[in-house]
Amino acid sequence: MNLRIPGPVPLPDEVLELVGAQMMNHRGPEYAVMIERMTRNLKTILATSGDAYLITSSGTGAMETAIVNTLSPGDPVLSISIGVFGDRYGLIAEAYGADVTRLKCELGQAVDPDDVRRTLRETPGCAAVVVTHNESSTGVVNPLEAIARAVHEESDALILVDAVSSAAAIPVATDAWGIDVVATAAQKAWVAPPGISMVTFSESAWKAYETAKMPRFYFDVALYRRYLETGQPPFTPCLPAIYALDHSMQAIVDEGIETVFTRHHERAEQARNGATALGLELFPDRSIASDTVTAVTVPEDIDGRELVARVREDHGVVLGGGQQTLAGKIFRIGHMGWVEPQHIDEALRAIGETLAAMRA
Ligand code: PMP
Repeated sequence: MNLRIPGPVPLPDEVLELVGAQMMNHRGPEYAVMIERMTRNLKTILATSGDAYLITSSGTGAMETAIVNTLSPGDPVLSISIGVFGDRYGLIAEAYGADVTRLKCELGQAVDPDDVRRTLRETPGCAAVVVTHNESSTGVVNPLEAIARAVHEESDALILVDAVSSAAAIPVATDAWGIDVVATAAQKAWVAPPGISMVTFSESAWKAYETAKMPRFYFDVALYRRYLETGQPPFTPCLPAIYALDHSMQAIVDEGIETVFTRHHERAEQARNGATALGLELFPDRSIASDTVTAVTVPEDIDGRELVARVREDHGVVLGGGQQTLAGKIFRIGHMGWVEPQHIDEALRAIGETLAAMRA
């Protein structure tokens, strides 16, 4: 099977073996050595000298961590959304009582940083901007550096970024861009199973923490900070995912993060060029197309759901379908983490042959 969804990603054999390794004492010396190494590698990959933590949860838990540790109920928050996951970030803030203003873009578009500036001027006292870096539902990458610049120039708001499907594949310059919290998850470009999320936490985020009143317990970052000082997690971690993530983070650092970014760009170009060579149209404009997931418009004469089903049944290639209003209208090819050129070739061949069979 060729799993080509935008996460969870397939794992190479050496990582799969670690997922089956024996459990260990998470309050013992072995774990302390491992968590110290992982935290160091996490900070290297996310380009920060600030704090960073590993949490046992999926990526949504990391987004919730960003919000509950920096905000109070009633705080004005700007939620930028270009798709399903942007909507979700706003919903989490709202669930905890933030006063959410939404800047929503048409699906397939990236946000215009000038629109961010304009909205911030109309939202005085904005406490935080929540934004998706790479929108997995539409295959669009937002111009994060320019967005962060706009936020810092126009306001004192914190910037809380969902980098779940970008980090470790597409550059996230946490400190250089002034990102306060980066949220990401192991089952994406990190080449590990689901179960671990990760957050960075800036000095400004810690300052906000001092007065933040949203309720929190499991996701209280101060617990993660205090326990990390003793080489422990506050709660029992998902050890199989930790073992795998430790290995894969070290592999990313050893390969060199710039090389990893280049590799992702090359695989993405292969997917985009291959799709257009089949006569298909990319859903977003190429200039904003993601290097981790390619969204392709389903041709008018084709049933998108049937296409995805037949590619799976006849060729063993598992594509992502469209989510919510895009169901049946697009399909998505995931290419983050461990991806060989032949994985993409095989997926493209399966799509081409299925299209031909459906039209015959
Ligand atoms: N944000 C983005 C951009 C994602 O792609 C995903 C997962 N598809 C999430 C958030 C949510 O992550 P999880 O399912 O791990 O909670």
